[in-house]
Amino acid sequence: MTVPSIADPVRSAALFERARAVTPGGVNSPVRAFNAVGGTPRFIRSAQGAWLTDVDGNEYVDLICSWGPMLLGHAHPEVQAAVLDAVRRGTSYGAPTEPEVELAEEIVARAPVERVRFVSSGTEATMSAIRLARGFTGRDVVVKFAGCYHGHVDSLLASAGSGLATFALPGTPGVPESSTALTLVLPYNDRTAVETAFAEHGDRIACLITEAAPGNMGVVPPEPGFNRFLAETCRAHGALFVSDEVMTGFRASRLGQWGLDGAVEGWRPDLMTFGKVMGGGFPAAAFGGRADVMSRLAPEGPVYQAGTLSGNPIATTAGLATLRLATDEVYAHVGAAADTVKTAASDELSKAGVAHVVQATGTMFSVFLTEGAVRDFDDAARTDQAAYAAFFHAMLDHKVYLPPSAFEAWFLSSAHDDRAVQTVLDALPHAARAAAQAQQTSGATP
Ligand SMILES: *Cc1c(COP(=O)(O)O)cnc(C)c1O
Repeated sequence: MTVPSIADPVRSAALFERARAVTPGGVNSPVRAFNAVGGTPRFIRSAQGAWLTDVDGNEYVDLICSWGPMLLGHAHPEVQAAVLDAVRRGTSYGAPTEPEVELAEEIVARAPVERVRFVSSGTEATMSAIRLARGFTGRDVVVKFAGCYHGHVDSLLASAGSGLATFALPGTPGVPESSTALTLVLPYNDRTAVETAFAEHGDRIACLITEAAPGNMGVVPPEPGFNRFLAETCRAHGALFVSDEVMTGFRASRLGQWGLDGAVEGWRPDLMTFGKVMGGGFPAAAFGGRADVMSRLAPEGPVYQAGTLSGNPIATTAGLATLRLATDEVYAHVGAAADTVKTAASDELSKAGVAHVVQATGTMFSVFLTEGAVRDFDDAARTDQAAYAAFFHAMLDHKVYLPPSAFEAWFLSSAHDDRAVQTVLDALPHAARAAAQAQQTSGATP
């Protein structure tokens, strides 16, 4: 056992109790509740650079970065100044503003999209992209992959039917069968499954949506050429290829996941979705793509879509400041820091005899406590969750805040300096031993 080096989370526990009395599970998004790892979720009072401070005064190196958005670290002075300046001029007008135009121009300059429309969450972005794909093609079927998360859109909260080309079942109570009856769910990285689905239903498929590189089952990179194969298969069948870069966009690389495959191989998605980094820590997201497809959207075209706070001036100002500061040097720094952490994590787990695999795409990575490569959701599901929970809590006790779930990416920022990275390196041996111990007591073979 290691001696915890942080104060008991007394105030967090008290706040959690109050929160549970007024909010389901005490949180406003499920993974924050620590259900998968146990223990008291930390209530955060403030954050600066790479560090979070909880309400008990404990400091942690943040390896979540708000689940991706904080590419520049917390409270970046230039982003903060731009936001404060914008706030002084009012916070929402319900009329168009200059920052919206500038952020749209910035995204169009960086990503392979000709037009973008802003929304307030990634969920809205994917939901709207699918409606647009259906409106554009006049078709109704949507193809997605198991383990890819696109927000809590009814038709995408779906689990695979009994066969490869059979329609999906609701993935949660509250979603009617009619909402998933037009969704096909396929295993990721499986070309045969894609070919079978298109052979059987090709003339009804409006679009295929995929995470450009899945990060929501842990990081499961597309096998070389897989996204290109998806784009070509869609084209051959008159369906649209929707690349969801809400997580990877402006994060995996300067040009997102597309910068790592499409830009190199010379293809473009028909539609893309963005969120997280492009909002700079505010609720902003977007969908965009081919001009001929986007022009079907109201008010230019007949497909309806709208939002009271869409393109909010504070959110678009924060996003614009973030993207303008996200230079090649930023990505090089985040990539190098991520390499140091993932190499050390792997070394310490090996020393402790814990089977694991580290998978990455660009600056994003995750650590699976399982044997062998993870190429789809079934592989990811084999990760040892009890061992991860022990690993997580040992890291937390040593001042490192990891995702409280074994199925998430770890995120760093340009603010993760030597001191922050060293804190992670110092914590890792304790966590690796805790994971090994958890496996021994549960009888699992390491
Ligand atoms: C986070 C995420 C979403 C959902 O975005 P929200 O803003 O949480 O609605 C959609 N797609 C991907 C790939 C994501 O990572």
